[in-house]
Amino acid sequence: MSMFGKGEGPAIGIDLGTTYSCVGVWQHGHVEIIANDQGNRTTPSYVAFTDTGRLIGDAAKNQASMNPINTVFDAKRLIGRRFNDASVKSDMEFWPFKVRGVDNKPMIVVNYNNQEKRFAAEEISSMILVKMREIAEAYLGSTVKNAVVTVPAYFNDFQRQATKDAGIIAGMNVLRIINEPTAAAIAYGLDRKYTTVGGKNVLIFDLGGGTFDVSLLKIEEGIFEVKATTGDTHLGGEDFDNTMVNYFVQEFKRKHEKDISKNPKALRRLRTSCERAKRILSSSTQTIIEIDSLYDGIDFSSTITRARFEELNMDLFKNCTEPVDKCLKDAKMDKSSVHDVVLIGGSTRIPKVQQLLQEFFNGKELCKSINPDEAVAYGAAVQAAILGGEGNIEKVQDVLLLDVTPLSLGIESDNGQMSVVVPRNTTIPTTKESVFTTVQNRQQCVEFPVYEGESIIAKQNRLLGIFELKDIQCAPKGVPQLNVCFNIDANGIMVVSAEDKSTKKKSKITIVNNNKGRLSKMEIARMIKEAEKYRFEDEENKKKLEAKAALMDYTHDMEEKIPSLRKLKRADKKKYEDEVAKTSRWLDENENRLAECKEYEDQKKKLENVCNRIIGKMHQNGCG
Ligand code: ADP
Ligand code: MG
Repeated sequence: MSMFGKGEGPAIGIDLGTTYSCVGVWQHGHVEIIANDQGNRTTPSYVAFTDTGRLIGDAAKNQASMNPINTVFDAKRLIGRRFNDASVKSDMEFWPFKVRGVDNKPMIVVNYNNQEKRFAAEEISSMILVKMREIAEAYLGSTVKNAVVTVPAYFNDFQRQATKDAGIIAGMNVLRIINEPTAAAIAYGLDRKYTTVGGKNVLIFDLGGGTFDVSLLKIEEGIFEVKATTGDTHLGGEDFDNTMVNYFVQEFKRKHEKDISKNPKALRRLRTSCERAKRILSSSTQTIIEIDSLYDGIDFSSTITRARFEELNMDLFKNCTEPVDKCLKDAKMDKSSVHDVVLIGGSTRIPKVQQLLQEFFNGKELCKSINPDEAVAYGAAVQAAILGGEGNIEKVQDVLLLDVTPLSLGIESDNGQMSVVVPRNTTIPTTKESVFTTVQNRQQCVEFPVYEGESIIAKQNRLLGIFELKDIQCAPKGVPQLNVCFNIDANGIMVVSAEDKSTKKKSKITIVNNNKGRLSKMEIARMIKEAEKYRFEDEENKKKLEAKAALMDYTHDMEEKIPSLRKLKRADKKKYEDEVAKTSRWLDENENRLAECKEYEDQKKKLENVCNRIIGKMHQNGCG
């Protein structure tokens, strides 16, 4: 009983992560986390642009050291933000790729197909979404159109809307945006397992690649309420990789008296090996690092134990319980009131991290039976199955899946106060109304600045947008009745409208639409077109690369045959050799350019004609 048209395939769940993304689907009564073409169950959130096309995922991350300025990552740190955000300014200092502000919207500038191109974070994210969809399609053998996509609990309206836009650009139908901690709680079925009077308190500990998020959820009768969120926007697996990199840089110095720290390529290769070693150390107590010709032709090899790895990172690990403490304080809750502690994020596979957290909760068992880097996609896949009409499946039918507004929403009143219309933790979707009025006699126009936040002083909260209601009934101050209505849909996306009750004059703001930070419908339409063009170009480039490989293989094969041509007439042999040399030369000359398929095919045909004719002669003469 699918809610969607035929041919749309099953709905999938996508965890669109800052460093890694993951995709799952509900199939045969359980969630399947899908491996990519490299066999990996998570895919780097990387997009690289080259002279010969575009790479996404592992292929993009693997070539990052050779092409740093055109390899884009961390798009999630930009999505839905303004260029002048403090966080954007400070993140930019650490990115090798260029970011420029256009109308205060951050645009990523790269060189693609020998042209300067600008991409919004939404477009980069859309490319990763397409990749995740393709991974699912390859596994399912059918097309996929519908998806549930997750975002951090602290994402505001702009960031959620921009994530949804990324889905639209990817040509997908985003059924719903849900919070990552909510998805993890769903994965563990914590909303269903048993009913506790007064609800259940669940602490979600998410230590990923570059971010650390702690959230406290209260789950009651299928409603997920975010009690508090804390964390560290710059702490995660990459920091643990870096401490190991520094450790080996020192070791290299000691062993070989050479400093590799100024060589980006060597560092990048070392970092890749360190990440791999770190992962192994989560299950083994020691491992080896081996890198051929790391620096100045020197092969590097060394061992590292889990104990040493823990020692190197102990300060960072210890810092991880502080935000947990703060989160509980913010929620005014004692740790003994937490019913479940859920581990998510790849870095929570580290035994020491688990141990420290378990100690913090006085030895409580942690929820870690679902791979922590897959739990969010798992929950998103369950939610996708429900929304996709798999509701008759026993295991998922009773999940209500409601979310709440993480912050209060309201209007700045004339004295600068925050006049709350939608209190925080209101279950969404919701519609709430409140009546405002004028402050001057015969006032014809009222401005409505819309804010989100908990301060009673509006200016200290976050301004989401401003709209005006004009042509108000001519009356003394305080008389007109201006009805303001906040409407929030299931994705947390909001429309605020105002109506003069007497004149019925209306005005509204889809906060996001009138906002410069958000893409306009026209921009989105253009980006969809371009996304199709890029996909077409990827296909074309793939064909060209295949044609090139075929020509190279053939030329190589013909070259290898030369020694066996001894018995041929000199003129024939020379003709053969010349022709092979000519093709080799052509390949060399065109090495840095991707030629058209036809050019490769023509070259190959020309060579084939000559070679086949001459080899044919040899066989005729019985000397083959
Ligand atoms: P994100 O933070 O982007 O959501 P993840 O939750 O998948 O991404 O976390 C990615 C991080 O987890 C990376 O730094 C990766 O090295 C780390 N990681 C993955 N598997 C392991 C493991 N077995 N042991 C330790 N760290 C791991
Ligand atoms: Mg994550």
